Amino acid sequence: MTFLSIVIPCFDEEACLDELHRRVSAVARAVAGDDHEIVLIDDGSRDGTWAAMTRIAAADPQVMAINLSRNHGHQLALTAGLDLARGERILILDADLQDPPELLPDMLAAMDSQRADVVYAVRRQRAGESLAKRASAAIFYRLLDKLTDTSIPLDAGDFRLMSRRALDALLAMPEQARFIRGMVAWIGFRQVPFAYDRAERHAGETHYPFAKMLSLAFDAVTGFSTAPLRFASHAGLALTGFSFLILAYIAVGWLTGTAVAGWTSLMLVVVGLGAVQMFVLGMIGEYLGRLYIESKKRPLYIVADVIGTAREDTVLGY
Ligand code: UDP
Ligand code: MG
Repeated sequence: MTFLSIVIPCFDEEACLDELHRRVSAVARAVAGDDHEIVLIDDGSRDGTWAAMTRIAAADPQVMAINLSRNHGHQLALTAGLDLARGERILILDADLQDPPELLPDMLAAMDSQRADVVYAVRRQRAGESLAKRASAAIFYRLLDKLTDTSIPLDAGDFRLMSRRALDALLAMPEQARFIRGMVAWIGFRQVPFAYDRAERHAGETHYPFAKMLSLAFDAVTGFSTAPLRFASHAGLALTGFSFLILAYIAVGWLTGTAVAGWTSLMLVVVGLGAVQMFVLGMIGEYLGRLYIESKKRPLYIVADVIGTAREDTVLGY
C-alpha cells in the first residue's frame, strides 16, 4: 500500500475533532495500516481546537498538527496542509464530517480501476443545509460553468482524492486567491467523479457565511475567467455607439431649432450611463485589486507551530 495523507483544515472545530479523529483513523488504518498520516491544520481557531489537536497528536503518532498564526481562510489553510503532506495519495476532507471518511476505500478503488489522478466527490444530496445555501451553491456552480474556460465540475467541493503528481502540479501554482477545486480542474490528468450524499455537520455551525461564500465566488470567477472584463469592454463599446446616436439626435435638434431637450430624457441618460460606468469600473477594480495583491508575492500563510513529523525540506508558506 502506498503512503496515504489525509488533510483536514479546521476552524473552530473543537466539538468535531475527537469524533473526526476516531472515524478517520479507523478508515485510514483499515486501508493503509501505519502507512498513513492525518494532517490537521488549525486555521487560527478561537475555541479549544489547538488544545484538542495537541492532545490528539500526542496520543497518535500518525497525526501531524499545524497551527497557523491566525485565520487565513479555508483555502489557504488547506494549502498549508497540502504543502506538508507526504503521501503518495492525498485525501482532502472537511473537519465537520459532512464528507464521510468511510468513502475512502471506494475512492481508492475508483482511482485504481479508472487509472485516475483525481477522484472528486460530487454531492448528490445535501442534508441539513439551508435552502438558501443549497440554492446559492446551485446557482453559483452553474454560473461559474458558463463564465469560465476551465470546465470545473458542478456540485463538487474540495472533498477529493489526489495522486502525488496531481498534488505537485497544484502546489506549483503560486496564486494568493485560491479556488482549489478550480485549480485542480485546471491541471488536467484523468479526473473522475464520485457521487455521494453530503451529511449534516457533526457539530457547530457553518464557517462559510454569505460574505465568505461571495468572496470565494469572486475568487473563482476572476481566477478562471476574464469574461466579466470582456463584458465590460463590450458594454463600453456598445455605449459608445449609443452615445453617437444621442449626439446625432442633439445635432438634429440644434439644426432644426427645437433644442429644448426634455429634462427627463437627459436625466435618464446621465443616470443610466453613470450606473453602467460604475459597474464596469467596479469589474475592472475587482481584477486590479487581485493583481495588486498577487504582485506583492506574500507568503500564502504563516505557520506558528508544527507537531509531528513535518517534512524537513519544506519551506513553510512559500
Ligand atoms: N474552515 C477553515 N477556515 C475558515 C473556514 C472554514 O479552515 O476560515 C474549514 C472548516 O473547519 C471545515 C471546512 O473549512 O473543515 C469547511 O467549512 P464549513 O464546514 O464551515 O463550510 P460548509 O461545509 O458549510 O460549506
Ligand atoms: Mg461543512
